[in-house]
Amino acid sequence: MGDIRTQVMEIGFDNVTLGEAVDIAMQYIEQGKKCRVVTPNAEIAQLCKSDSSLCEIVNRSQLVLPDGIGVVYASRILGHPLKERVPGFEFAEALLDRLQNTGKSVFFFGAKPGVAEKAAENVKKRYPGLLIAGTLNGYYTNDQKVIQQINDALPDVLFVCLGAPKQEQFMALRGDALTPVLMAGLGGTLDVLAGEVNRAPELFIRLNLEWLYRLLCQPKRIGRVMRLPVYLLSAFAAKGRQKNA
Ligand code: UDP
Repeated sequence: MGDIRTQVMEIGFDNVTLGEAVDIAMQYIEQGKKCRVVTPNAEIAQLCKSDSSLCEIVNRSQLVLPDGIGVVYASRILGHPLKERVPGFEFAEALLDRLQNTGKSVFFFGAKPGVAEKAAENVKKRYPGLLIAGTLNGYYTNDQKVIQQINDALPDVLFVCLGAPKQEQFMALRGDALTPVLMAGLGGTLDVLAGEVNRAPELFIRLNLEWLYRLLCQPKRIGRVMRLPVYLLSAFAAKGRQKNA
């Protein structure tokens, strides 16, 4: 819907603001056109360099949102800047808000047992006009049962919160069998909605240091976070190649 993709090395991102991203998502939902939303940050974009199947899944998604500041910096280095960072969590919140009183429902799939239920409870208080079709934790052994349970609840929208790249792979592999019109891979969103994990304080978000806050809270993410500088270096290298070409 719209020709707004900006290529940032291997990935074509939709060059949209948060508001525009939600408008596009709502158009898909209202028109009943299937839509897969992915929210790659620099870590995932870096992973795509060595995983061509993941790269294809991401690029074939109908909405590709630049979740991290690393992706926005890379777009600037390459000389075709993305408008802004569109964090998956903020997209999720804005979409839940817009879904209120539309008659469209959402299903929360993912996170540890009990988390999706708690997220649903909190969300119902925050968005009273929202219909929640059901919840299911992300620790399963049988894909078919998961598909059945989701489809039986008849949701219009599915949040898939299994972490990357598991959620992207699940959506690509099972997307045809799943009936929700729009599905979105949203990482740790349910943990935050449930109050299990805090989002970074406002100052960190404003200074584009959300990645640093997450690293301080979960030092074991260091391996993943190190993909960020590697990704930026590869953007400089790509820019150098562009100049020499
Ligand atoms: N998760 C899940 N099933 C799994 C592995 C992970 O539901 O098999 C959940 C995990 O409980 C957490 C989310 O996926 O709620 C991953 O969160 P994270 O913040 O690490 O997301 P990412 O940064 O990978 O997008």
